Parts: sequence; structure tokens; C-alpha cells
Amino acid sequence: MRLSRYFLPVLKENPSEAQIVSHRLMLRAGMIKQAQAGIYSWLPLGFKVLRKLENIVHEEQIRAGHIPMLMPTLQSADLWRESGRYDDYGEEMLRITDRHGRDMLFGPTNEELITDIFRGHVSSYKDLPLTLYHIQWKFRDEIRPRFGVMRGREFLMKDGYNFDLTKEDALHSYNRHLVSYIRTYERMGLQAIPMRADSGPIGGDDTHEFLVLAETGESEVFYDSKVTDIRLGEREIDYDSVEQCRAVMEEFTSLYARTDETHDEAVFNQIPEERRRSARGIEVGQIFYFGTKYSDPMGATVQGPDGKPVPVHMGSHGIGVSRLIGAIIEASHDDKGIIWPEGVTPFHCGIVNLKQGDAEADAACDQLYAALTAIGLEPLYDDTNERAGGKFATMDLIGLPWRITVGPRGLKNGVVELTSRKTGESVELSPEEAVKKVA
Ligand code: ATP
Ligand code: MG
Ligand code: MG
Ligand code: MG
Repeated sequence: MRLSRYFLPVLKENPSEAQIVSHRLMLRAGMIKQAQAGIYSWLPLGFKVLRKLENIVHEEQIRAGHIPMLMPTLQSADLWRESGRYDDYGEEMLRITDRHGRDMLFGPTNEELITDIFRGHVSSYKDLPLTLYHIQWKFRDEIRPRFGVMRGREFLMKDGYNFDLTKEDALHSYNRHLVSYIRTYERMGLQAIPMRADSGPIGGDDTHEFLVLAETGESEVFYDSKVTDIRLGEREIDYDSVEQCRAVMEEFTSLYARTDETHDEAVFNQIPEERRRSARGIEVGQIFYFGTKYSDPMGATVQGPDGKPVPVHMGSHGIGVSRLIGAIIEASHDDKGIIWPEGVTPFHCGIVNLKQGDAEADAACDQLYAALTAIGLEPLYDDTNERAGGKFATMDLIGLPWRITVGPRGLKNGVVELTSRKTGESVELSPEEAVKKVA
């Protein structure tokens, strides 16, 4: 992409409404624009990152054997009356009436809708196990939307639902989700620690929240510092293996790590004092096993091996896709701007032309652009007439992992400058070597 043809409305000044760094940087980098309280337009740069995160989520869900689909944002109130949640959910639910006077709602989550799909089409235990998911906009009329996309009212969530014949099978689904979630977050350059949590309006006993440690997080958390040493890394996972998924789940959840809702001082105090930590965290996902909480009242049964109807065991699992962008920026920035992890960066590399209009510099930039594009990378080429300082500031602000700076002086010696956004280190290289380094 050439910057002169792109839409990147960066702000020079810090917007006064932003209280935390991720919100400030997303506004300044021209990623989002507030449409109403807690409702945002995703400008091209923000949209690009959102799509990258969505892709990672899809890839990891499909790898775990879960099936993508898409349910609507608007749901019928009658379904929620069946589960009893229409009245229970409270003021966070946006209720709408259509022209015929029918009660509808903008979905805050989808347990009822998916259970309705399931009961309409699945009748035998032979069709289990089944896990369906989608990535769709949700609406929750949060009392205090704030911190930009971190606590929006309209936000993008991946939500998945497992249907199993037995509790045992459903717990495997739970563990499988836990493993796939950790993998998802790690690919985004994040450490999200599974912590024992409270189930809230979804219901059920077994639940973990995934928390990214950050001072600006809204959750209070308590943990054994040893949990922060655990990584999934590149290990091979067989998602069908009950033993392996359980082992990974135990590895990640055996040490003390809880949110304030389930925190227990007595248990916490058994951890050696130097390892006891209390901190703040951002909830970027949550998994639940809730058994037959929805299948019972909604009649989602299958015919069991003995021919008798059995209510299915279910769980639901959510990732806050749009919130994650804020969490990534909270975890990865400096005073100049965002520092994107490689896996989620909107462009792989920036090209800064120090002397736009200089035939040699322009040609060298065009060649670099072509070479990067040819190997499947997406560069953002600042071909504007802005002065060098301004170009550097924009590149630092939008946080691409690499910047290649091209100017007549370097070209005389056959070199360009390659700068790492993370370390700030620059090296002079031939254009060919610079391309290799970025790849
Ligand atoms: P919170 O405690 O922050 O209100 P929640 O527990 O109500 O979140 P869940 O029902 O567990 O949310 O939804 C799954 C995920 O969706 C959350 O882990 C979070 O990452 C994301 N999410 C929830 N509410 C919002 C919101 N208002 N804005 C952005 N993301 C959200
Ligand atoms: Mg909430
Ligand atoms: Mg929560
Ligand atoms: Mg939650």
C-alpha cells in the first residue's frame, strides 16, 4: 500500500477522552473512530488488525476441530424466554421491537440460538461430539463503556458451543478449548493466563477466564508467579487426545491463579511468600462447562445408545476479538507508539522515502516494494512529501515491526537502513539483504 493512496487519519495531539494508552494510540494511529459511546467505526488500519486476529482465531479453532458458521446479530426474545434468561439478563441486553410488535434483542451471546439450531437438526448420539462457533458482533449495553474497544457496547466476539453426550466428553471439549485458546493468544504475542473464575449469567461451575496482566486491566487477580513461566510454544497437540488435552489443562491450571471473585486468602497464603502476586488483568476470553443448563429447559436431547433421550452436555467459550487489540497494545507499546507483534501487524514493513521525487530514491523504493510484495509480504510505503521526521513519527506510532529507510546518501553506497521497531536498532544493508531480513 502506498500511503498517498491510503486512508490513515493519524492524530498529532493526544485525544483528551482517552484514559488509557491503548485507547489513545488506537485513536492517534487512525485505527478507530467513535460513532457513539462504546460503538466504533473500524478505520482501515484498525480493520486490518481486526481481520488478522479473526484469522488467527479461525485457524486455531479449525485446527482444534471446531466448525465455523454465522448466526445473526438480532435474536428473538421468545428463545430467551424458553431458557429463562430474557428476564434474568437485565439492562445489559438491548431490547428491540419490530413493526409487528415482536420482541427482539441484539444478541449479547448465543447459547439459546445455537441450542435451537442443535435441537432442530441433531437427534442421535452418533452425531456427537459437535462444536460450532462463529465470530460475530455482540451488543451489551454496558453501564460504563470505556477504554475504547476494551469495554465497548458493540464488540466482536468469537463464541463457540460444544455438544457432548456425557459430562466426561464435555470436559474434554472444555480442555480442548483451553489448549486452543492458549495457542491462539500465544500466536498474537500475548500471555493470557487461565484463571479460575465465576460463571456470571452464563451459569455453570467449571469456568476459567484468560487474563493478560496489565496495570490498566479491570480485573483484580491473584496468582503464583510460577504460572507466568509456562508456555505452550511449538509443541504438537493432538486435539482428539483426551489425555494430552487434560495434561496441558492441568499444567496450566494447577498453580494458583484466580480472579477476585474466587480468590481464597487461605489457599493463596500457602504459596511461598516470594511467589505470591496480586495484580490487574484484562479478561480476553472465558470458557465454561455448564452441563444441561440450556439443553434441559430447551429440550435439546439426543437418542442415546440405549434408545432413550438424553439432554446434551454443553459448554460455551468466548474470545474478545476486538478487546484483544486493546490488550495487545497495552502489553506492547512505548512512548512513541504501538509495537505490533509480528503475528498481528497490519503491514509487515514500512518503507520511508527520505527524498520523494528523487529519481533514484523513488526507483529504489519501488523496487523494494515489488520485492517485498513478490514474497507475499505487505509493505506500507510512505511516498508522501512529508519531511523525514514526520514520516518516522508516523511509522513509530503505527508500530510496524520493520522500517526500511531509503535516501540518496545511502543509495550512493548501495545501502538502505533497516530499523527494528522493537529494539530501535538500525543497520545498513543492501536492499536485497533488507528484504531477506524482513522475510
Ligand atoms: P467483562 O467481565 O469484561 O464484562 P464478560 O465476562 O462479561 O466480560 P464474557 O461473557 O465472558 O464477558 O464474553 C467473552 C469475552 O468477550 C470476554 O472474555 C471479553 O474478552 C469479551 N467482552 C465481554 N464484554 C466486552 C465488552 N463490553 N467489550 C469488549 N469485549 C468484551
Ligand atoms: Mg460483562
Ligand atoms: Mg467477566
Ligand atoms: Mg467472562
